[in-house]
Amino acid sequence: MKWFGYTGKLLYINLTTCNYQVKELELEQAVKYLGGKGLAASILYEKLKPGTDPLGPDNILVFATGPLTGTPAPTAGRMVVATKSPLTGLWLDSNCGGFLGREIKQAGYDALIVEGKAAEPVYILIDDDKVEICSAANLVGKDTFDTHEILRESHGEVRVACIGQSGERMDRLAAIISEARAFGRGGAGAVMGSKNLKAIAVRGTNSVKIADYDKFVNMVKEAFNEVAINPDTGGGRNHYGTNVIYSFINEAGIHPVENFTKGKFGKLDVINEEILRTKYYKKDKACSSCPIACSKYSVVEEGKYQGKFVEGPEYENLWSFGAQCGNSDIGAIIHAEYLCDAYGLDSVSVGNAIGFAMECYKRGVLTEEEIGYPLQFGDTEAMMRTLEAIGKGEGIGKLLAQGVKYAAEQIGKGSEKWAMHVKGMELPAYDPRGAYGMGLAYATSDRGGCHLRSWPVAQEVLSANRMDPFSVEFKAEFVKSEQDLISAVDSVGLCLFASFAMTLKQMVGMLSALTGIKELDSGEELLKIGERIYNLTRLFNMREGMNASADNLPERLLTETHKEGPAAGSTVPLEEMIEEYYRIRHWDENGKPMQSKLKDLGL
Ligand code: SF4
Repeated sequence: MKWFGYTGKLLYINLTTCNYQVKELELEQAVKYLGGKGLAASILYEKLKPGTDPLGPDNILVFATGPLTGTPAPTAGRMVVATKSPLTGLWLDSNCGGFLGREIKQAGYDALIVEGKAAEPVYILIDDDKVEICSAANLVGKDTFDTHEILRESHGEVRVACIGQSGERMDRLAAIISEARAFGRGGAGAVMGSKNLKAIAVRGTNSVKIADYDKFVNMVKEAFNEVAINPDTGGGRNHYGTNVIYSFINEAGIHPVENFTKGKFGKLDVINEEILRTKYYKKDKACSSCPIACSKYSVVEEGKYQGKFVEGPEYENLWSFGAQCGNSDIGAIIHAEYLCDAYGLDSVSVGNAIGFAMECYKRGVLTEEEIGYPLQFGDTEAMMRTLEAIGKGEGIGKLLAQGVKYAAEQIGKGSEKWAMHVKGMELPAYDPRGAYGMGLAYATSDRGGCHLRSWPVAQEVLSANRMDPFSVEFKAEFVKSEQDLISAVDSVGLCLFASFAMTLKQMVGMLSALTGIKELDSGEELLKIGERIYNLTRLFNMREGMNASADNLPERLLTETHKEGPAAGSTVPLEEMIEEYYRIRHWDENGKPMQSKLKDLGL
């Protein structure tokens, strides 16, 4: 079969046997699951035995591109890593921009599927159709920046994804880093570490073939225009990066402070998007083919954290090492982001975990003797010391590096009550007591406490024609349809942010002109594929023993209220929303997709 957009090739690498094999992508697989998340879900559902130890040799890591990845379409540099998460024991896909996806596609592969475990530390070198498994003896113990540098010194202009020391230790909060961008959440870095796989380095020199060149170019031009004229993607996000929402979220009372005990950070005079932009911003950075350029480089020019040129901080990190820990020193936050990238850590979960430990200290559940120093909210030095301990796997850091669910189980004394996670994954930077839809999105996310499956906050507090944030009305419909749409976006190889501007018609227009696959020329079909993918990851999770009780929120969000701010007195009415959500999804009362729905989706 002649492929356009796709390469039609899947590269299977077995680290136990040191062999690799190229298999054909099937047309039916592409039509049913697109690529990226969908393709990875179809592979993992078929190949991974239920009950597999996430950190054992039988777990599988899939690096998957979408059909648009590596093309000139706006934001088409995205790809996913999917695996069984060591943090949640459930489905995990982590999406990343940068240039790795483009390079894998141009090397000639739609996906790399890594199986087994190497006897010694190795890295995989892919140079178009040449594949080698090389000794990583010289990379062991190196941080991710040094690892990138050494691999580029050895192999020239390769694109790299690697783990740092945290991944080598198989800490559950370990991320995979690719040129300071991260496959951040859920512990994919630990899975790489468990396979003795330090890095992959890729060079691709082929171009992506296009079925209908003129139509594709016209559709791409139209999509670029749409992104440019949109006030978010062509305005605020381009100027401030993801921090464009910082003050709005705080004003709405949903910026979690000191481990979700308050909803408004009272330090806006020293920490906000404008200060970050005027005092620390140095230049923009964009992923492959992205006009939005939401990544911003920052430098701390004076004081204790002076020095490093850092990509970020993103909104989530301005929160995780800011309000979550009661810290308002932006310099420390920038340095914290650098350390997370260097050690190879999920910076959202790490900040959440430090805030959790601070609350344990405040309540006397963790003592100065156990920690080695006082760990109070607002103590910037103690926060940085704890982050270093997590990166080095020392002292209290060794425990926190496994995530708050595990840490609370070890600490006991009721600490599970303030461990802010869903299904084991730490919550990010939105308090759903002031945005009920966000609560439903967290509870039903297929990878746990995550804002990237559905982000109702945009409609509940940021939009001009808002949905009432304190009502349950339309929340189930909204979350379900956004989860389906985002599953499709994560499968075609576009950035989620582009979907804020582009229409479905534009997406499928590019997709069908690129691939020449007529089934992909309908927005309705794209949403149906997204729904199919979301149901498949649900089946994956249920096969691992998950049930409806896991579609929940931390007790604090259901029973404790804020005393002041816009969300004062409110808790999340989750049960009501879940019931409606299951009904709309055609899932039974146990949260299991009904046979009729599976049949309709061809599963
Ligand atoms: S919008 Fe930001 S994250 Fe998305 S592709 Fe562009 S630079 Fe990367």
